[in-house]
Amino acid sequence: MITVIGGGPVGLVAALYARRAGLPVQVLERRSKLPLDKACGEGLMPGGVGLLDELGVVIHPDGQAPFSGVRWIDGDVVADAPFPHGVGRGIRRTYLHEGLMAASADAGVDVRLGVEVTGWDGAVLTTSDGEVRPDHLLACDGLHSRLRDWTNLSAGPGPVARFGLRRHYRGVPWTDRVEVYWGDGAEAYVTPAGPERIGIAMLWSGEKARFDKLLTRFPRLRDRVVGLPQDSQDQGAGPLHQRVRGVVAGRCLLVGDASGYLDALTGEGMALGFQQARAAVAAIQAGNPFGYAAEHRRIVRQPVALMQLLLVAQRRPWLRRSIIRSLAAMPRVFSHVLQLNDGGDWLPSGRTPHKLD
Ligand SMILES: Cc1cc2nc3c(=O)[nH]c(=O)nc-3n(C[C@H](O)[C@H](O)[C@H](O)COP(=O)(O)OP(=O)(O)OC[C@H]3O[C@@H](n4cnc5c(N)ncnc54)[C@H](O)[C@@H]3O)c2cc1C
Repeated sequence: MITVIGGGPVGLVAALYARRAGLPVQVLERRSKLPLDKACGEGLMPGGVGLLDELGVVIHPDGQAPFSGVRWIDGDVVADAPFPHGVGRGIRRTYLHEGLMAASADAGVDVRLGVEVTGWDGAVLTTSDGEVRPDHLLACDGLHSRLRDWTNLSAGPGPVARFGLRRHYRGVPWTDRVEVYWGDGAEAYVTPAGPERIGIAMLWSGEKARFDKLLTRFPRLRDRVVGLPQDSQDQGAGPLHQRVRGVVAGRCLLVGDASGYLDALTGEGMALGFQQARAAVAAIQAGNPFGYAAEHRRIVRQPVALMQLLLVAQRRPWLRRSIIRSLAAMPRVFSHVLQLNDGGDWLPSGRTPHKLD
């Protein structure tokens, strides 16, 4: 039996892959109020959309909108590029959860809501509903994973504290791109998340802040949404950078945000988590759970390298502007960068720039 801790998107995708592999699986999720929601930019990159399709996950049309590429806006400089392959989807998290729960029910996944995991000693899980002795454990318990601590795989938060905050507005999206507005020390991400829903996520470093205050840093964007009714309560997350020493400890495999997180800057957290979920199940099925560690490194190395570069550039406005100006002049290069971020190849194999540390 595989026990998955966390019924977020990565946990449910992991459970679906386990069922496809013919493995019995249960999911323990501490929350019970459905559908689950979370602070997220909600842009699923084309690779992640492909994996949801592969698993037969159906999302209600009211809760999603396609996007065809990415636009970076820094003052008057605009770099814009389509995805070379496929489309992304802005999917409201509540609708994503509904779609994943329906697919899980069809696949025979045993999802136990309102069950909190409170301890793990390497063999026995303590939960609010008694003890469980899993053969394998997939820790999909998110950014502030407690399994990461209990397995001693945590290397603590990163040195720079960045935070995220998101809000939705009711209105017809004005763009079929994910728009990223770059400012000094903060970015705003606009994602169409339904035929009449616009999601905006803020990322910034420094002190905790309120959405309306952050929005004043982006006057062009503020003018776009002024007067539109708010469609969700603001939700935040952080600090974002969480480091790991490894992703496998005995029979426990860390997956998704639990397996280390750098930043939401390039919006591929869910797509990476889905790939990790598939790799973790494949390693268990092959009888080699430790093989997951190498696969995990392979999955994250290029997106994380790009994210590191952008985080450095974000702290140096002249560098950031010159990168965006260059990409504006070379949209095909920008398209290529988007593809690399979504699973293409650019680093020589074997070179690992970063271990999420
Ligand atoms: C501001 C912001 C913007 C983002 N934008 C994007 C984007 O545009 N695109 C993208 O792909 N990603 C984005 N991300 C990242 C994305 O939200 C995460 O990568 C994704 O949610 C990871 O899913 P997960 O299932 O690993 O974790 P989560 O979604 O956090 O799910 C973890 C689940 O585990 C449960 N849980 C935790 N502890 C326990 C316990 N002890 N017992 C039982 N259950 C437990 C929680 O209740 C939760 O349901 C963004 C993140 C932020 C903060």
